[in-house]
Amino acid sequence: MRLIIMGPPGAGKGTQAKFIAERFGIPAISTGDIFRANVSQGTPLGVQAKSFMDQGLYVPDEVTNLMVRDRIDEKDAEHGFLLDGYPRTLAQVEELDGMIKFTGHKLDAVIVLTVDQDEIVDRLHRRAVEEGRDDDTPDVIRKRQEVYLEQTEPLIAVYKERGLVLEIDGLGEVTEVTVRIFAGLASVSES
Ligand code: AMP
Repeated sequence: MRLIIMGPPGAGKGTQAKFIAERFGIPAISTGDIFRANVSQGTPLGVQAKSFMDQGLYVPDEVTNLMVRDRIDEKDAEHGFLLDGYPRTLAQVEELDGMIKFTGHKLDAVIVLTVDQDEIVDRLHRRAVEEGRDDDTPDVIRKRQEVYLEQTEPLIAVYKERGLVLEIDGLGEVTEVTVRIFAGLASVSES
């Protein structure tokens, strides 16, 4: 399975990504996690990404695309992967198309988690406290939501046109959402 999980910041993508990846025996690849790991290790990539992340802005496409290309070239992603937080721009969609085409495979589905805006703000505040994320201050949260609406939400229409979108209600208990996702994916893996 080659999957993408999308949704606004705080929709629960990371949590659900882990369950889906486990179920299908594929790696969950979170660009945000990779960037954060690089920031905390002080690598050149981390230094490059940090200033953008701290402002709630996207890291430039060239940097992000290269990082994802390297990651999905790794052995564990040979038979599939779940991308969490990528693609986020139209340029990234095109880049990913090229990467997948090159390997002779196809994208199977794009899971879109839908959630209520107020609920998200609450969740993000809670996560900021629990995980101590520098990029979850109220101003940065607002900025990240704006950037998502402007640059990433339009990608849903692109994938809808290709008939790949599985829209899942992201509200409710974590396990309820997981059950909804698995039910949606069952129809994809059968087809
Ligand atoms: P996330 O944990 O997915 O919300 O990502 C945290 C931050 O990492 C984002 O606010 C961006 O600054 C950066 N980031 C993650 N994925 C991407 C991407 N696909 N393109 C550009 N920047 C990204």
